[in-house]
Amino acid sequence: MAPRKLAAGNWKMNGDLAALEQVDALCAAHPGPRCEVLICPPALLVHPMVSRIGAGPVAVGGQDCHAEMSGAHTGDISAAQLKDAGATHVIVGHSERRADHGETDADVAAKAAAAHQAGLVAIVCVGETEAQRDAGQTLDVIAAQLAGSVPPGSDAANTVIAYEPVWAIGTGRTPSNDQIAEVHALLRERLGGAVRDGADMRLLYGGSVKPDNAATIFAIANVDGALVGGASLKADDFGAIIAAL
Ligand code: PGA
Repeated sequence: MAPRKLAAGNWKMNGDLAALEQVDALCAAHPGPRCEVLICPPALLVHPMVSRIGAGPVAVGGQDCHAEMSGAHTGDISAAQLKDAGATHVIVGHSERRADHGETDADVAAKAAAAHQAGLVAIVCVGETEAQRDAGQTLDVIAAQLAGSVPPGSDAANTVIAYEPVWAIGTGRTPSNDQIAEVHALLRERLGGAVRDGADMRLLYGGSVKPDNAATIFAIANVDGALVGGASLKADDFGAIIAAL
């Protein structure tokens, strides 16, 4: 069983070979076996980052994968290729993929299943838009995304769920602690009945997590860590978030 707490950094389409030096500081600051630290750089940087970390304590993941393991899919990357490059995790169903590439819950479930088949941990993202929250639909939207995006065969060892309200991503706005707790309680309750080890599956919060709000967010019930975008690009900021785990 993986450590309970997980801090995952999502570099999105940022970073270059020179930026890899940041991982040295993160390896040095890693708090030890009680938590897991993961960086998901752009696909081109996965293997160089794995090489730089070597036997160090920081894991490397992809930001997306195709649902098939190989074939005529120009520009796509498979879970098997990520695994071959040294990745251990892959994010699937990020709201930017859902919005920019029209990914449906079924697409996300197929990608998560491919990740499992390749031996990767799938980080499955769910989250409501601001309009959905304002319309009082948040819990229904999250429940539907969860049911549709988590494939059969998911368990606490091969799957992590990330709750990322779309309106909180990159905006500096976060839900209240009660709003985060409400969604995470729903996730925990639904997973408990739906998948093996659902009670132990790690639930991350993501969306404008920063050094100054991380400790408060990590203290919320059923929050097992964070998926961090902007603040993962600076080793000082991400290091401070990891220290708050
Ligand atoms: P943010 O992004 O931390 O920059 O809000 C989070 C995410 O998209 O995973």
